[in-house]
Amino acid sequence: MRFEIQLRIVGDDNNVISEGEILQFDKGDDRLEAIGLSFANSKAILVGIQERVVNAQAASFLVRHRCCDFCGSLLLSKGPGRIRFRTAFGTIVLSSPRFHHCPCQPGVARTFSPLSLLLTERIAPELLYLETRWASLVSYGMTADLLRDVLPIGSTADASTIRRHLHKVAARYEADLSGEQPGGLDEGPVNGQPLPQAAVIVGIDGGYIRNWHDKKHNFEVVVGKSMAADRDDRYFGLVRSQDEQPGRRFRDVLRTQGLPVTQPVTMLTDGGDSVRGLVGELSPGAAHLLDWFHIALRLTGLGQYAKGLTHHNPVEAVAVQYRLERIQWRLWHGDGDEALTRAQVLAADVAALNSAYPGLKRLVKATAGLATYIANNAAAIVHYSERWHKGERISTAFVESTVNLVISRRFAKKQQMQWSKGGAHRLLQTRTKTLDGTLRDLFTRWYPDMTVHDNQVPALAMAA
Ligand SMILES: [Zn+2]
Repeated sequence: MRFEIQLRIVGDDNNVISEGEILQFDKGDDRLEAIGLSFANSKAILVGIQERVVNAQAASFLVRHRCCDFCGSLLLSKGPGRIRFRTAFGTIVLSSPRFHHCPCQPGVARTFSPLSLLLTERIAPELLYLETRWASLVSYGMTADLLRDVLPIGSTADASTIRRHLHKVAARYEADLSGEQPGGLDEGPVNGQPLPQAAVIVGIDGGYIRNWHDKKHNFEVVVGKSMAADRDDRYFGLVRSQDEQPGRRFRDVLRTQGLPVTQPVTMLTDGGDSVRGLVGELSPGAAHLLDWFHIALRLTGLGQYAKGLTHHNPVEAVAVQYRLERIQWRLWHGDGDEALTRAQVLAADVAALNSAYPGLKRLVKATAGLATYIANNAAAIVHYSERWHKGERISTAFVESTVNLVISRRFAKKQQMQWSKGGAHRLLQTRTKTLDGTLRDLFTRWYPDMTVHDNQVPALAMAA
């Protein structure tokens, strides 16, 4: 059987602008693999159609810009030129003539090419979106492979091009944040009343990835999740040294949740130095809570060391375990002062212990670490028991999984992939938006017509 694909382009006045054949191909009907279009068929058809569609649009635009906008005189041609426009359905080479500016407009640059007023970027926003979305989920190389498999984009999709494009998207988002108006504080929803502080919970936590510039070392990336009643969750992420505007970044998170940017929030952290310092920068009025999950994790670890002591100093081992339980009880009831005093005394006693226990060194270090940890986070220790009974959140265990979700796979902790701080920071921007489903919204903010669904009429419906 022979198939012939034809395309007819009709102008606004219903005149046929162009009509012609896109592709012919033969296909049998006696083998499974012959049924339907192959990828090669579909790619050839798409490229053929795209070429004519884009050329027709460019030609129509050029006709409208052939004369001076001010006096209507025909513009003098300076000569031919070319523009390459990358789309998901092929890279289209367009002829793009240059014109002299009209003499009625003195003082402007001498020549210009009208098409560059239309094609302000040389890549179609939809392709940029697709590249960004997939490269946020899987590696740059795999994204290139995937797109090449299904789209007629040939060799124009390679890992480094896609990385460059993703970085451009992230940089544009950063520029949007810097452009936040000083009066942007009332930019929130018009009648948005802040929810009670306890109703918006933000968990932040850090994770480490390998430094490309200094292969022996890791650096920290911070990941957060914002949760509010009746609203979709949002993720955010950053590399501290790359982020000049954590406050603006966080206000944008609230905005995309439909919350006023002045929304008071409760932030839960693991109590690490870098994350603790970030709370006030993200949201100056935030209530900061040391999360129970990390306290419990620390005490459990200590309990293990203490258990190991049993074989060498059974009496002391029981005593240490009992004292840890009492410290935990004090913390659970929000009595950070008493917990600190007890932790300090315990650390001193353990340090003075005379024992052959091989794990003693670690036990001494961990008990001292507990005291420091409580001291550093004194202001963020709350009455957990009371919160628990009121049904309020006390744990960022949910953030632990966020860190794994956001960092582990794409940043390939296991494969020892290496990152520059800037590259990691930029990828975090697009990845968090891809994961919480707001990347598309970002694009439609930049390219409003991406939301418009073309007026499609299926041929079969037309025939009916
Ligand atoms: Zn003019």
